[in-house]
Amino acid sequence: MADALVFDVGGTNLRAGRYSFATQQLVSISRKDTPNAWNTPSDVLPFEQLYKEMTLLSKELFEYDEPEVVTIGFPGPITPSGELLSTPTIWGERFKGSSSIIPRLKSFWPNSNVHVLNDISAAGYLLKDIYPEDFCVISVSSGIGSKLFINGKPYTGVMGRGGEIGHWVTDDSQEAPICDCGGKGHLGGICSGRGVLGFAKTQSMSNHADYQKSYVGKIHPDCQDILNETLVTAYLKGDAWTVSVIDKTARQLARAIALIHTTTGIELFIIIGGFSTALGETYRRSVADLAATFCWNLGQNWDEMVKIGPEGTEIGLAGAGRFSETVRKAIYENK
Ligand SMILES: [Zn+2]
Repeated sequence: MADALVFDVGGTNLRAGRYSFATQQLVSISRKDTPNAWNTPSDVLPFEQLYKEMTLLSKELFEYDEPEVVTIGFPGPITPSGELLSTPTIWGERFKGSSSIIPRLKSFWPNSNVHVLNDISAAGYLLKDIYPEDFCVISVSSGIGSKLFINGKPYTGVMGRGGEIGHWVTDDSQEAPICDCGGKGHLGGICSGRGVLGFAKTQSMSNHADYQKSYVGKIHPDCQDILNETLVTAYLKGDAWTVSVIDKTARQLARAIALIHTTTGIELFIIIGGFSTALGETYRRSVADLAATFCWNLGQNWDEMVKIGPEGTEIGLAGAGRFSETVRKAIYENK
């Protein structure tokens, strides 16, 4: 047996890769849509379709051999005893915690060393090789996830509930949007890819005249047709309406970052996730500038403190690969 099978289970995309221990790189990658609450019939049991897709991807990547290590990055908090507490970006409110998910996942690869960890923790294992200092990684994609990496390891607390700023209430107004988890005014329901899309639709209805004049309004006269891709294009073109919409959501993310900084003293915030990396440098600068306005000035260089994760890299998969290396090393050291 050789190599690792790695998964990055996102709310929208399910990615799998074959990670070579010899070259410390991903040698092949396959993708599918994640079967989730929004695209799976309601009579299908949560995760059953996902298990099927994962085993199909496994067979694609390991047609003639078996993986030595399997590392699965899963979007949700996992307790130290292995209980998955929630997965709102996949199952919304239809699933509330289970201790059977992880044993079931492990059963699909009986001859491999299988590990399930939080998806943002997996990403952090790649970032820690790039950034040796303590940092906070924040993912802006279908939802919002975060992890503090202290001394090269994710810190999530004794119950594994840490690193979930996506479910912190930042808008307690009556009209605050509903998060995938069912909560109201959570950060993840506001500035994730899904959150921004929802906010853009609301904004377009509240000021339809400005919307119609915008780049997005011209592409999608009916605001219910707005796509994240169009928002990204419009933002990069500097479309005033879109920049204003996205900056309003970035403001809430910046508020959370300033709180984490003032609480922990963490000096490095790495934003990852498809939506944020697509928005790129302008978005990073906006978040950094806004973060500076949400706490006192002790001489922090916010422009240096906020970074956008490496572009064009499968951070979640590559990080799961790096984590697999530590697992493999531990196996050999204990033999
Ligand atoms: Zn939530």
